[in-house]
Amino acid sequence: MFKGFTRFLQSPGAHLRSLFGPEEAAAGGRTGPRIIPRSDHPVSRQHFSEPALKVLYRLHNAGFEAFLVGGCIRDSLLGRMPKDFDVATDATPEQVRELFRNSRIIGRRFRIVHVRFGREVIEVTTFRGTHGDDHGDHIAQRSEEGLLLRDNVWGNIQEDALRRDFTVNALYYSIADFSIHDFTDGVHDIESRTLRLIGDPETRYREDPVRMLRAVRFAAKLDFHLAPATEAPIETLAPLLLQIPPARLFDEILKLFMAGHGVATFRLLRHYGLFAMLFPETDEALAELPWAEPLIEAALASTDQRIHEERPVTPAFLFAALLWGPAQQRQAALEADGMPPIPAQQAAAQQVISRQLQHISIPKRFSLPMRDIWELQQRLPKRGGKRAIQTREHPRFRAAYDFLLLREAAGELEPGLGDWWTAFQQGDDHERQRLLDKAGGDAGPANGRGRRRRPRKRRRRNAPPNSS
Ligand code: ATP
Ligand code: MG
Repeated sequence: MFKGFTRFLQSPGAHLRSLFGPEEAAAGGRTGPRIIPRSDHPVSRQHFSEPALKVLYRLHNAGFEAFLVGGCIRDSLLGRMPKDFDVATDATPEQVRELFRNSRIIGRRFRIVHVRFGREVIEVTTFRGTHGDDHGDHIAQRSEEGLLLRDNVWGNIQEDALRRDFTVNALYYSIADFSIHDFTDGVHDIESRTLRLIGDPETRYREDPVRMLRAVRFAAKLDFHLAPATEAPIETLAPLLLQIPPARLFDEILKLFMAGHGVATFRLLRHYGLFAMLFPETDEALAELPWAEPLIEAALASTDQRIHEERPVTPAFLFAALLWGPAQQRQAALEADGMPPIPAQQAAAQQVISRQLQHISIPKRFSLPMRDIWELQQRLPKRGGKRAIQTREHPRFRAAYDFLLLREAAGELEPGLGDWWTAFQQGDDHERQRLLDKAGGDAGPANGRGRRRRPRKRRRRNAPPNSS
């Protein structure tokens, strides 16, 4: 930790007293923010991107208040390089829009301005007022369950701080004097690595159930614990996630599983009963198939590792692992009813995906490659004739091969086929021929379904239920 900051953390009380006097410094009794001057915190403009600073300075020079807030300040205080920047201001979206040609207003439920600089987007939000107050314009709306439908009541910075989710996300860095404004004792919570919802936790989760997912995401990413009152209502309120539109949950899933902490996140989601609200069929399969959990964890671990190595990752692979258990169960049931394996797999895939889409929307650009990965699982054991060579040329071969290795490692399949394919890819022409000769007919060694020989003649194909 930085020297000045450590000093500050060791004597925050002394600091407070010098600024506000003892009564105001007492918890809850303070009326204004704790203001931490630049000399007492480690957050430096060097941590911020050029575009973020440009936005702050232009707002400031136009006479508006401008602060960096949220994850970028939290992460800087933790000694992590921030990855994106959120600006809070007293300028309205229209006023922000006028200052930046490269900007547009987005969102209805929550209107914000995106200012674009090449590939970087700076999110600018206008200070929100506390909802519940009737400002006469009725721009904040709630559903009967307390869900906040719209949140566009403007307010001041203090009100803005109180409607943010966690105390550690409500720290504001001022571009006017580089101080940090702390309205909710967020700095203390950073020091004790605590995630604490601002306000009454149950009300805040009801307003926006996605905050439960955010709690888990930050806990996993930052290695923080949840404050007891923040943790307590989650299990009971988890079903509120069923109200969230599938498109929003898809975005959230990417943040949960594609940010380098997927394994930890997955465990916490299950621990709090949240996973079942996102992937109900997978949750059931986890209870029934011994290999399902190791398979998903292995897929998440490999995604985490690739992210840390800055190698590309695709959600298709993860969704393939997450939904493979239910897809296999359904396929087995259809085969037991007499459907041949290939149409059974297609029908099972179709059914599992359409059930899942009721919870989380998976764009076609991910669900199609996911199905390819699944379909290739049936082709990988068949290596006779030119098949191995054709399979090897499939654009999704590599992902399907990686998936096969995970299935073997998870204990779904006996090992063997994965090694064959590893050798086949690495070998020269001579070695490949040797492997092909060894593989012989359709079924190779240990493909998981035994050395089942299928009749050469095709059975008359029952129309799969998904063919319409
Ligand atoms: P990261 O960007 O590292 O994932 P973040 O904290 O910046 O984390 P964002 O989703 O970028 O998260 O949101 C920016 C800020 O907006 C948050 O820090 C928080 O103050 C506020 N915020 C975001 N989502 C919510 C929410 N659902 N309820 C209340 N406040 C929120
Ligand atoms: Mg952010």
